[in-house]
Amino acid sequence: MIDTGVSNQFFNDPQSLGFPSWLEPKLNLDKMELLTAMDNYLEEENLKLKGVFLSHLHFDHISGISAIDKQVPVYVGRGETKEKYFLYAAFRGAVDTMLEGRPPLQEWTAEYVDIFGDGSLFAIHTPGHTAGSTAYFVNTTEGPLLLTGDATHTAWGWNHGVEPGGFSTDREGSHDSLHKLIQLVNENPEIKVQPGHQSL
Ligand SMILES: [Zn+2]
Repeated sequence: MIDTGVSNQFFNDPQSLGFPSWLEPKLNLDKMELLTAMDNYLEEENLKLKGVFLSHLHFDHISGISAIDKQVPVYVGRGETKEKYFLYAAFRGAVDTMLEGRPPLQEWTAEYVDIFGDGSLFAIHTPGHTAGSTAYFVNTTEGPLLLTGDATHTAWGWNHGVEPGGFSTDREGSHDSLHKLIQLVNENPEIKVQPGHQSL
């Protein structure tokens, strides 16, 4: 599983996962619509996950992890566990609660990691939005697919080469990482792209 969607527990009671109540109105959580919860998805598809690969540790990418068995190993990008960006302070309690009782996070160790050693799935280090931000490149049965994570959030951002702004650890790094992905797709236009928060 790459990133985790949203669990029923997070949707119904984010505070039970350590999410600060004062942040809920600021993020308009009450307006969130849940199409399919991670719990329901795993059940419907009868999936027994063997690993979770995270694009980064922002709460909106791990808000489904409470639906995932606590034994399942979780992988993040290089340096992500040592991220010190100030905005993390507000979310750290929630991130810690959501990851509690799980095996220690494992970090990818190189800029490009051939995860299974067969060219089917690569982790690509895209630091900037966070220190360990990671995009994933998947050779699917329907062709190659790039999951950008939050290297860019939106279709507009991808199409105009606009990286995340204020919510970033290192804006220059964000710019370089997004353009590295854009170059990859320019050179290989058969790659389909999925930005972090919206489909193209
Ligand atoms: Zn993010």
